[in-house]
Amino acid sequence: MAYGCDLGGGQRVYLDNQGSQTLITLASSSPGQQQQASTGFQTGRWNGSPQAFQTASGIVIKIPLADGDRFIQIQGNRIHWVNAGTVETAQPLVMQQVEMPELASMPPMQPMQPMEMQPMKPMTMGNMSMNMNPMEMRMGDMEMRMGSAAAANQTTHQASAQQDSKRFCNQCGSSVKPDDRFCSNCGNRLG
Ligand SMILES: [Zn+2]
Repeated sequence: MAYGCDLGGGQRVYLDNQGSQTLITLASSSPGQQQQASTGFQTGRWNGSPQAFQTASGIVIKIPLADGDRFIQIQGNRIHWVNAGTVETAQPLVMQQVEMPELASMPPMQPMQPMEMQPMKPMTMGNMSMNMNPMEMRMGDMEMRMGSAAAANQTTHQASAQQDSKRFCNQCGSSVKPDDRFCSNCGNRLG
């Protein structure tokens, strides 16, 4: 049979006599997280029910054993043995019998293993190489690129620029190259 005692501030202590061992579990819970730590002491079997006291220097728990009472002091997360006498004027705390402390019987949570995402490495096979983002593929002299919006826009731009600068002879109307000085059809001098 285990005993539980509320220490206030979200902290609870559980005491259990397992064989000849006294198992002390400190459990603290705050919104979003729960912590617990167990400490075992070789004490022998209990001679009665443990009692908890609120003293000026912390929580003291009296454990009745066959060869006399023993006292454990809890200060924060530290547990240590103390001499009797500290509880003479102390205020007893309510110690409840608990079936099996739910918290204490819970296996400690395993922290989630962070997923390892390797960035995609450029792939090379023979004379073929491939890159991601932008998608790029090379095979010998052949090159293929995808997903590069900038590159695509550039191509369109160049095409339209060529379209705009297309010139015509103002004499005969035949098309001439932008850098032609004379019309190849009629020989007209181009401005
Ligand atoms: Zn012409």
